[in-house]
Amino acid sequence: MGRTAGTYTCLVLLVLGFICFTSLYLRYLTSISFMKNLPMATEGAPILITNLDSTLDFRARPAVQTLTSWHAPIIWELMFDPKLYDKRHQEGNTTVALTVFAVGRYLDAYLNTFLTSAEKHFMIGLPVTYYVFTDLPEKVPKFELAPQRDLKVVKVQKNSRWQDISMMRMKTISETIETELEGKFSYLFCFDVDQEFKGRFGSEALGESVALLHAHFYKLPKERFTYDKQPKSKAYMKEGDYYYHAAIFGGSLEKVKALADFCHVSIMEDKMNEVEALWHDESHLNKYFWLNKPSRLLSPEYCWDPIIGDKSDIMVTRLIWEPKQYNMVRTR
Ligand code: UDP
Ligand code: MN
Repeated sequence: MGRTAGTYTCLVLLVLGFICFTSLYLRYLTSISFMKNLPMATEGAPILITNLDSTLDFRARPAVQTLTSWHAPIIWELMFDPKLYDKRHQEGNTTVALTVFAVGRYLDAYLNTFLTSAEKHFMIGLPVTYYVFTDLPEKVPKFELAPQRDLKVVKVQKNSRWQDISMMRMKTISETIETELEGKFSYLFCFDVDQEFKGRFGSEALGESVALLHAHFYKLPKERFTYDKQPKSKAYMKEGDYYYHAAIFGGSLEKVKALADFCHVSIMEDKMNEVEALWHDESHLNKYFWLNKPSRLLSPEYCWDPIIGDKSDIMVTRLIWEPKQYNMVRTR
């Protein structure tokens, strides 16, 4: 009798154990299927552009972080299939606008290299319109653009302080989205001019709200992030997720407009309160992305400073910083 009861209990435990194990294993499989490189495509079946990110391979780069805590991908080489991204965006008729400012001496120093290199590497295969903002429209270099690519020059006033030239970009970007870009483009990317494209900067970088990890900070502990620390400033932050670089940001027109408006309003409030954020527009951009999490992060492969000695994570340099020549180009 005792033996039968024992065997019975054993059997029940075995069955329960089996059910437990199977359900845990199934949950594990579901969770990793999201992280796996699943070419969703059963042959020929269309993948919506919004589903494209399920093809990302989050385990392709074990030495670096590829997913944020709020499940935004951080894009590194090897994670994506460039052909698949390009194909889907071409099929979806994606169009891209790029803004770049070349005010004062920045025009002669950087604009030609920036644009010529963008023609070789930026969103190749998609229609692109460059918007160049400058106080010297007649000095914008003339060159032939590839088919489906266009360049528009917009005249802007030159602020006397370089800090204001940099910060007031937010106002101009917001106004330009409203008056010129809305309805015409799927995505907008905003760039500093003092950089050169060196490798593919393609459709895998496109997303609703895109932020860039700063090359000098992506490996540092949070305590070293240079957020604004003046309680008087609108950019003031006690804590944050990452340190983002304002040299590149992008997204849908609606999201970029929200970012530009937030930064511009904060900058103007700071001016009224006679305070200036530590790193100007970049401090406000970091505050914005802390309050409004970006949906996509670009790794420093997308904006690398060649001065940095440890390049161990950088498999491809897609864009590099030009050497800083502040003494030469900045108005004081
Ligand atoms: N800029 C400009 N003229 C100026 C100062 C700034 O055109 O006199 C624009 C330019 O696009 C530049 C950007 O503002 O790349 C940001 O300034 P900078 O690159 O000097 O800032 P940093 O890269 O040092 O943060
Ligand atoms: Mn710059």
